[in-house]
Amino acid sequence: GWLEGRVALVTGGASGIGRAVVERFLAEGARVAVLDSSGKNIAAMQGHFPDLVMVEGDVSSFEDNERAVAAAVEAHGGLDTFIGNAGIFDYFAPVATTPGATLASSFDEIFAVNVKGYLLGVKAALPALLESTSPSIVFTLSNGAFLPAGGGTVYTASKHAAVGLIRQLAYELAPRVRVNGVAPGGTLTDLRGASSLGHAETSLLDVPDFPDLVRATNPLGIVQQAADHTGPYVLLASPENAAAVTGVVINSDGGMQVRGLAQAAGGTDL
Ligand code: NAD
Repeated sequence: GWLEGRVALVTGGASGIGRAVVERFLAEGARVAVLDSSGKNIAAMQGHFPDLVMVEGDVSSFEDNERAVAAAVEAHGGLDTFIGNAGIFDYFAPVATTPGATLASSFDEIFAVNVKGYLLGVKAALPALLESTSPSIVFTLSNGAFLPAGGGTVYTASKHAAVGLIRQLAYELAPRVRVNGVAPGGTLTDLRGASSLGHAETSLLDVPDFPDLVRATNPLGIVQQAADHTGPYVLLASPENAAAVTGVVINSDGGMQVRGLAQAAGGTDL
Protein backbone atom coordinates (compact mmCIF):
# COMPACT_ATOMS: atom_id res chain seq x y z
CA GLY A 1 0.00 0.00 0.00
CA TRP A 2 0.96 3.65 -0.47
CA LEU A 3 0.86 4.40 3.26
CA GLU A 4 2.74 1.39 4.60
CA GLY A 5 4.00 2.01 8.14
CA ARG A 6 2.55 5.50 8.37
CA VAL A 7 0.32 6.74 11.21
CA ALA A 8 -2.71 9.00 10.75
CA LEU A 9 -5.20 10.66 13.08
CA VAL A 10 -8.63 11.38 11.53
CA THR A 11 -11.17 13.60 13.29
CA GLY A 12 -14.79 12.72 12.62
CA GLY A 13 -13.46 9.35 11.46
CA ALA A 14 -16.37 7.32 12.80
CA SER A 15 -18.82 8.18 10.00
CA GLY A 16 -19.14 9.25 6.38
CA ILE A 17 -16.12 10.68 4.57
CA GLY A 18 -13.86 10.35 7.63
CA ARG A 19 -14.73 6.70 8.06
CA ALA A 20 -14.13 6.03 4.35
CA VAL A 21 -10.71 7.70 4.67
CA VAL A 22 -9.92 5.56 7.74
CA GLU A 23 -10.86 2.37 5.91
CA ARG A 24 -8.82 3.36 2.83
CA PHE A 25 -5.78 4.34 4.93
CA LEU A 26 -5.92 0.97 6.72
CA ALA A 27 -6.11 -0.77 3.32
CA GLU A 28 -3.05 1.25 2.20
CA GLY A 29 -1.06 -0.07 5.17
CA ALA A 30 -1.41 2.86 7.59
CA ARG A 31 -2.12 2.61 11.30
CA VAL A 32 -4.92 4.94 12.29
CA ALA A 33 -6.51 6.73 15.24
CA VAL A 34 -9.88 8.50 15.31
CA LEU A 35 -11.27 11.38 17.37
CA ASP A 36 -15.06 11.53 17.18
CA SER A 37 -17.78 12.92 19.45
CA SER A 38 -20.28 10.18 18.69
CA GLY A 39 -19.99 7.25 21.10
CA LYS A 40 -22.66 5.53 19.00
CA ASN A 41 -20.64 5.84 15.77
CA ILE A 42 -17.48 4.69 17.58
CA ALA A 43 -19.24 1.64 19.00
CA ALA A 44 -20.62 0.76 15.55
CA MET A 45 -17.13 0.89 14.00
CA GLN A 46 -14.69 -0.37 16.64
CA GLY A 47 -15.67 -4.04 16.36
CA HIS A 48 -14.79 -4.11 12.65
CA PHE A 49 -11.31 -2.65 13.16
CA PRO A 50 -9.73 -3.98 16.36
CA ASP A 51 -6.37 -2.18 15.87
CA LEU A 52 -8.04 1.18 15.24
CA VAL A 53 -7.55 3.60 18.16
CA MET A 54 -10.85 5.38 18.79
CA VAL A 55 -11.12 8.32 21.18
CA GLU A 56 -14.47 9.87 22.08
CA GLY A 57 -14.18 13.63 22.35
CA ASP A 58 -14.99 17.03 20.89
CA VAL A 59 -12.69 18.64 18.31
CA SER A 60 -13.49 22.10 19.66
CA SER A 61 -11.71 21.14 22.91
CA PHE A 62 -7.91 21.45 22.84
CA GLU A 63 -7.65 18.87 25.65
CA ASP A 64 -9.67 16.31 23.66
CA ASN A 65 -7.40 16.84 20.63
CA GLU A 66 -4.34 16.38 22.86
CA ARG A 67 -5.87 13.19 24.29
CA ALA A 68 -6.41 11.79 20.78
CA VAL A 69 -2.86 12.64 19.69
CA ALA A 70 -1.46 11.01 22.84
CA ALA A 71 -3.52 7.87 22.21
CA ALA A 72 -2.33 7.69 18.58
CA VAL A 73 1.32 8.14 19.55
CA GLU A 74 1.11 5.65 22.41
CA ALA A 75 -0.55 2.93 20.33
CA HIS A 76 1.24 3.48 17.02
CA GLY A 77 4.57 5.01 18.03
CA GLY A 78 4.24 8.41 16.34
CA LEU A 79 2.13 10.52 13.99
CA ASP A 80 2.74 11.30 10.31
CA THR A 81 -0.57 12.73 9.10
CA PHE A 82 -3.29 14.76 10.82
CA ILE A 83 -6.63 14.80 9.00
CA GLY A 84 -9.08 17.49 10.16
CA ASN A 85 -12.47 16.30 8.95
CA ALA A 86 -15.14 16.51 11.69
CA GLY A 87 -17.76 19.00 10.62
CA ILE A 88 -21.39 20.07 10.93
CA PHE A 89 -23.74 21.72 8.45
CA ASP A 90 -26.16 24.68 8.64
CA TYR A 91 -28.80 23.15 6.36
CA PHE A 92 -28.85 26.31 4.22
CA ALA A 93 -30.23 28.52 7.09
CA PRO A 94 -31.03 31.82 5.30
CA VAL A 95 -29.85 35.10 6.86
CA ALA A 96 -33.15 36.83 6.03
CA THR A 97 -35.37 34.46 8.00
CA THR A 98 -33.09 33.11 10.77
CA PRO A 99 -33.59 35.04 14.05
CA GLY A 100 -30.53 37.11 15.02
CA ALA A 101 -29.82 35.27 18.26
CA THR A 102 -30.07 31.90 16.46
CA LEU A 103 -27.73 33.11 13.73
CA ALA A 104 -25.25 34.20 16.42
CA SER A 105 -25.27 30.87 18.23
CA SER A 106 -25.11 28.90 14.97
CA PHE A 107 -22.01 30.90 14.03
CA ASP A 108 -20.34 30.05 17.35
CA GLU A 109 -21.34 26.38 17.14
CA ILE A 110 -20.39 25.78 13.50
CA PHE A 111 -17.13 27.77 13.56
CA ALA A 112 -16.15 25.98 16.80
CA VAL A 113 -16.23 22.63 14.98
CA ASN A 114 -15.42 23.45 11.34
CA VAL A 115 -12.67 26.03 11.93
CA LYS A 116 -11.47 26.02 15.55
CA GLY A 117 -11.58 22.21 15.53
CA TYR A 118 -9.09 22.08 12.63
CA LEU A 119 -6.80 24.70 14.21
CA LEU A 120 -6.74 23.06 17.65
CA GLY A 121 -6.22 19.64 16.07
CA VAL A 122 -3.15 20.94 14.27
CA LYS A 123 -1.88 22.63 17.43
CA ALA A 124 -2.22 19.39 19.40
CA ALA A 125 -0.72 17.24 16.64
CA LEU A 126 2.20 19.50 15.77
CA PRO A 127 4.77 18.30 18.33
CA ALA A 128 4.23 14.68 17.21
CA LEU A 129 4.17 15.63 13.49
CA LEU A 130 7.52 17.41 13.86
CA GLU A 131 9.02 14.08 15.00
CA SER A 132 8.03 12.51 11.65
CA THR A 133 10.44 12.55 8.69
CA SER A 134 7.66 13.49 6.21
CA PRO A 135 4.64 14.89 8.03
CA SER A 136 1.46 16.17 6.42
CA ILE A 137 -1.90 17.71 7.25
CA VAL A 138 -5.09 17.31 5.19
CA PHE A 139 -8.38 19.14 5.84
CA THR A 140 -11.80 18.22 4.51
CA LEU A 141 -13.27 21.33 2.89
CA SER A 142 -16.33 21.44 0.60
CA ASN A 143 -17.55 22.99 -2.64
CA GLY A 144 -18.75 25.57 -0.08
CA ALA A 145 -15.10 26.57 0.38
CA PHE A 146 -15.24 28.21 -3.07
CA LEU A 147 -18.85 28.58 -4.22
CA PRO A 148 -22.14 29.88 -2.78
CA ALA A 149 -25.30 27.80 -2.27
CA GLY A 150 -23.52 24.69 -0.97
CA GLY A 151 -24.90 25.72 2.43
CA GLY A 152 -25.99 28.89 4.19
CA THR A 153 -23.70 31.84 5.01
CA VAL A 154 -22.30 30.33 8.19
CA TYR A 155 -21.31 26.96 6.69
CA THR A 156 -19.98 28.61 3.52
CA ALA A 157 -17.93 31.09 5.55
CA SER A 158 -16.59 28.31 7.79
CA LYS A 159 -15.32 26.34 4.78
CA HIS A 160 -13.85 29.48 3.20
CA ALA A 161 -12.10 30.10 6.54
CA ALA A 162 -10.57 26.63 6.41
CA VAL A 163 -8.93 27.59 3.09
CA GLY A 164 -7.26 30.39 5.05
CA LEU A 165 -6.08 27.88 7.65
CA ILE A 166 -4.53 25.77 4.89
CA ARG A 167 -2.72 28.70 3.28
CA GLN A 168 -1.38 30.17 6.52
CA LEU A 169 -0.40 26.80 8.00
CA ALA A 170 1.23 25.71 4.72
CA TYR A 171 3.37 28.86 4.98
CA GLU A 172 4.07 28.73 8.73
CA LEU A 173 4.90 25.03 8.82
CA ALA A 174 6.99 24.94 5.62
CA PRO A 175 9.38 23.40 4.89
CA ARG A 176 8.70 20.73 7.52
CA VAL A 177 4.96 19.96 7.15
CA ARG A 178 2.89 19.88 3.96
CA VAL A 179 -0.68 21.23 4.45
CA ASN A 180 -3.45 20.61 1.89
CA GLY A 181 -7.18 20.05 1.53
CA VAL A 182 -9.78 17.92 -0.23
CA ALA A 183 -13.06 19.62 -1.17
CA PRO A 184 -15.89 17.11 -1.65
CA GLY A 185 -19.14 18.01 -3.35
CA GLY A 186 -22.51 16.88 -1.96
CA THR A 187 -21.98 13.35 -0.66
CA LEU A 188 -24.42 10.78 0.70
CA THR A 189 -23.49 10.79 4.39
CA ASP A 190 -25.17 11.21 7.76
CA LEU A 191 -23.85 14.82 8.01
CA ARG A 192 -25.71 16.55 10.87
CA GLY A 193 -26.80 20.12 11.40
CA ALA A 194 -26.16 22.57 14.24
CA SER A 195 -28.19 22.01 17.40
CA SER A 196 -28.57 25.80 17.70
CA LEU A 197 -30.52 25.66 14.43
CA GLY A 198 -32.58 22.69 15.64
CA HIS A 199 -30.82 20.34 13.21
CA ALA A 200 -28.75 18.09 15.49
CA GLU A 201 -30.79 15.10 14.32
CA THR A 202 -31.18 16.23 10.70
CA SER A 203 -29.20 14.04 8.29
CA LEU A 204 -28.42 14.55 4.59
CA LEU A 205 -29.66 10.97 4.17
CA ASP A 206 -33.16 12.18 5.09
CA VAL A 207 -33.27 14.96 2.47
CA PRO A 208 -35.39 13.22 -0.19
CA ASP A 209 -34.21 15.09 -3.29
CA PHE A 210 -30.55 15.36 -2.21
CA PRO A 211 -29.22 12.70 -4.64
CA ASP A 212 -31.05 14.34 -7.57
CA LEU A 213 -29.81 17.79 -6.52
CA VAL A 214 -26.21 16.58 -6.34
CA ARG A 215 -26.45 14.82 -9.70
CA ALA A 216 -27.83 17.95 -11.37
CA THR A 217 -25.13 20.28 -10.02
CA ASN A 218 -22.01 18.57 -11.34
CA PRO A 219 -20.93 18.02 -14.96
CA LEU A 220 -19.97 14.41 -14.29
CA GLY A 221 -23.58 13.83 -13.21
CA ILE A 222 -22.55 11.66 -10.27
CA VAL A 223 -23.98 11.19 -6.80
CA GLN A 224 -20.87 11.03 -4.66
CA GLN A 225 -20.31 8.35 -2.05
CA ALA A 226 -17.85 8.87 0.80
CA ALA A 227 -15.40 6.34 -0.67
CA ASP A 228 -15.20 8.35 -3.93
CA HIS A 229 -13.10 11.00 -2.15
CA THR A 230 -10.47 8.82 -0.50
CA GLY A 231 -7.89 8.77 -3.32
CA PRO A 232 -6.96 12.46 -2.95
CA TYR A 233 -6.37 11.97 0.80
CA VAL A 234 -4.00 9.07 0.08
CA LEU A 235 -2.21 11.15 -2.55
CA LEU A 236 -1.78 14.17 -0.28
CA ALA A 237 -0.61 12.06 2.69
CA SER A 238 1.90 10.14 0.59
CA PRO A 239 5.44 11.61 0.54
CA GLU A 240 6.27 9.53 -2.55
CA ASN A 241 3.35 10.98 -4.52
CA ALA A 242 3.07 14.55 -3.25
CA ALA A 243 6.56 15.59 -2.09
CA ALA A 244 6.19 19.04 -3.70
CA VAL A 245 2.51 19.61 -2.97
CA THR A 246 1.53 22.08 -0.25
CA GLY A 247 -1.09 24.79 0.17
CA VAL A 248 -3.48 23.32 -2.40
CA VAL A 249 -7.02 21.99 -2.37
CA ILE A 250 -8.15 19.12 -4.59
CA ASN A 251 -11.77 19.52 -5.64
CA SER A 252 -13.56 16.18 -5.56
CA ASP A 253 -17.00 17.35 -6.61
CA GLY A 254 -17.77 16.10 -10.12
CA GLY A 255 -16.44 19.34 -11.62
CA MET A 256 -18.70 21.99 -10.07
CA GLN A 257 -16.31 24.78 -11.03
CA VAL A 258 -16.66 23.92 -14.73
CA ARG A 259 -20.42 23.56 -14.64
CA GLY A 260 -22.05 25.07 -17.73
CA LEU A 261 -24.60 27.87 -17.57
CA ALA A 262 -27.42 26.47 -19.71
CA GLN A 263 -26.67 22.85 -18.88
CA ALA A 264 -24.31 21.26 -16.35
CA ALA A 265 -22.40 19.16 -18.91
CA GLY A 266 -21.64 20.01 -22.55
CA GLY A 267 -20.97 16.51 -23.77
CA THR A 268 -24.15 14.67 -22.91
CA ASP A 269 -24.52 13.59 -26.56
CA LEU A 270 -21.09 11.95 -26.70
P1 NAD B 1 -20.76 12.57 8.99
O1 NAD B 1 -21.72 13.16 9.96
O2 NAD B 1 -21.09 11.28 8.35
O3 NAD B 1 -19.33 12.44 9.70
C1 NAD B 1 -18.87 13.44 10.56
C2 NAD B 1 -18.36 12.82 11.84
O4 NAD B 1 -17.83 13.90 12.63
C3 NAD B 1 -19.43 12.13 12.68
O5 NAD B 1 -19.01 10.85 13.08
C4 NAD B 1 -19.61 13.06 13.87
O6 NAD B 1 -19.90 12.36 15.07
C5 NAD B 1 -18.24 13.71 13.96
N1 NAD B 1 -18.30 15.02 14.64
C6 NAD B 1 -19.21 16.02 14.48
N2 NAD B 1 -18.95 17.02 15.32
C7 NAD B 1 -17.85 16.66 16.05
C8 NAD B 1 -17.12 17.27 17.09
N3 NAD B 1 -17.45 18.49 17.57
N4 NAD B 1 -16.06 16.61 17.60
C9 NAD B 1 -15.72 15.39 17.12
N5 NAD B 1 -16.38 14.76 16.15
C10 NAD B 1 -17.44 15.39 15.62
O7 NAD B 1 -20.56 13.71 7.89
P2 NAD B 1 -19.56 13.82 6.61
O8 NAD B 1 -20.38 14.28 5.49
O9 NAD B 1 -18.72 12.62 6.46
O10 NAD B 1 -18.67 15.07 7.08
C11 NAD B 1 -17.26 15.05 7.13
C12 NAD B 1 -16.72 16.35 6.56
O11 NAD B 1 -17.07 16.44 5.19
C13 NAD B 1 -17.26 17.63 7.22
O12 NAD B 1 -16.19 18.54 7.41
C14 NAD B 1 -18.22 18.16 6.17
O13 NAD B 1 -18.38 19.57 6.27
C15 NAD B 1 -17.52 17.75 4.91
N6 NAD B 1 -18.33 17.74 3.69
C16 NAD B 1 -19.43 16.94 3.59
C17 NAD B 1 -20.19 16.96 2.43
C18 NAD B 1 -21.42 16.11 2.26
O14 NAD B 1 -22.22 16.39 1.36
N7 NAD B 1 -21.62 15.09 3.08
C19 NAD B 1 -19.81 17.78 1.37
C20 NAD B 1 -18.67 18.57 1.49
C21 NAD B 1 -17.94 18.53 2.66
